[in-house]
Amino acid sequence: MKRPAVFLDRDGVLTVENLKITPPDKTEIFDYAKDCVDRIHQLGYLAIVVTNQEGVAKGIFSMDELTEANKRMTDATGVDDVFVCPHHPDGMVREYTCICDCRKPKPGLIMQAARKYDVDLDRSYMVGDRAGDILAGQNAGIRTVLVDSGYGKARLEQEAEADYYCSDLRDFVFNILTDQTGENK
Ligand SMILES: [Zn+2]
Repeated sequence: MKRPAVFLDRDGVLTVENLKITPPDKTEIFDYAKDCVDRIHQLGYLAIVVTNQEGVAKGIFSMDELTEANKRMTDATGVDDVFVCPHHPDGMVREYTCICDCRKPKPGLIMQAARKYDVDLDRSYMVGDRAGDILAGQNAGIRTVLVDSGYGKARLEQEAEADYYCSDLRDFVFNILTDQTGENK
């Protein structure tokens, strides 16, 4: 049976967004991230991270360093999987310098995850702190949530109207998602 998912941006949603490109060893995980992921699972959703990491294409950190940081985040939060776009059209590392189908606002990462886990997109959400996250969700045809814990509304680089506006991931998971799912486990 298909399962719905909560797709999560990484920087600004699960981890503190303090630089445009965060070095992998500096990623600081929000202390409430694990409680939110546990709740997402309780409510019957997968928790899947979809993240642009153009630092790989730009040679700021390696794919191995990124994989290590994502493993640390996975262990600390309990998310089901992490889908990464390491590409950028103006990169330094030839292997990752390209126009790809996965860099948000394109829906490629969400669609990859949906295929791998047989996700019910009609019941799924995309949670992010930037216009690219909201547009990626819309391009995948799912509901979107803008949180204020990262760049927030002040830093939207283009127009994007989310379905829901929340202060942070806690606000979304324990209010909107809990209410909409109609369960109080
Ligand atoms: Zn890509």
